[in-house]
Amino acid sequence: MARLIAILLASGLGLLVAAIVLSALPANATERTRGPTTYSSSYVYTDHPSRVASGRIIALYIDRDFDEYQRQHIVSAMRQWNYVLNGFVRFTATLLPEDPSSLDLSRIRRSGGWIVAKVDSSHPITRQSEGRQALAVTVNGGGGGFVYVIEDRIGRRDLTGVVMHEFGHVLGAGHDGYGLMAPVYNPNNGHCIDRGAATLVARARRLPLAQMNWCEPGPGNPPPMAARSESISTRSGLKTTVPVT
Ligand SMILES: [Zn+2]
Repeated sequence: MARLIAILLASGLGLLVAAIVLSALPANATERTRGPTTYSSSYVYTDHPSRVASGRIIALYIDRDFDEYQRQHIVSAMRQWNYVLNGFVRFTATLLPEDPSSLDLSRIRRSGGWIVAKVDSSHPITRQSEGRQALAVTVNGGGGGFVYVIEDRIGRRDLTGVVMHEFGHVLGAGHDGYGLMAPVYNPNNGHCIDRGAATLVARARRLPLAQMNWCEPGPGNPPPMAARSESISTRSGLKTTVPVT
C-alpha cells in the first residue's frame, strides 16, 4: 500500500490530491516565512462576495520534474490567485505529459495554456537579459506561454511567493513598487497577493477590484513599509538582491 501511494504520488496524482485538499481549506490562512531569515509574516485575505458564476479558465501545465513539495507550493500559488480572482478568472492545473515534444508544447501555448517549467541556471533563458539574475521568468507567446522556475537560484526562498509573482505576470500584471509584484525578491514581503497586485490584474483584465480579494497584514504584523526598509539595509549589506522578473 505504501509503495502504491509512492507510485501514485510519483505519477503525479499528488498534484491532484493537493489541489483538492488545498482548495477545500478556508482561504484565510496564516503563513510563516521559511528559510534562513525567519520573520514572522502573518496576513489575512479579504472575503468579498462575487457575482460571477463561471469566468475564464487559464490552464496551467506543470512540469513533472517538480517534486511533490514543489508541486504543493505551485498549487498553493494557484489557489491563492483563484481566491483573489473570485471566479472572474480561474487557474486549473494538470501535469505536463512525460517528455513533451515541441509540437505538444506549441499546441498547449496556442490553446492559451501556460507551461510551468522547472529549469536550472544552465537553461538558455537565464542567458537572456531578463533572465540573467532572475529567480523565475515568464515568457508570453502564442496565446499562452512559459513560466520558467530557475530552481537552483531559488534555494530556500519562498517558492510560493516567486510563483505567485509570475502568475501575476501570466494574468497581465506588470511590476509594482513593493509587495508581491516588486521586481526584486524581498524575503520580508510578497508572500501573499496584496491589494497592489490585485489592482494591477484588475486593470489589465478590466475586472471590478471591489469584487476581488487581496491579503492584508494580520494582527500583530509590522506595517509593510517598516519591514521593507529593514530588509533593504540588510540586503544591500549582503548584496543578495535578486530580481524576480
Ligand atoms: Zn516580474
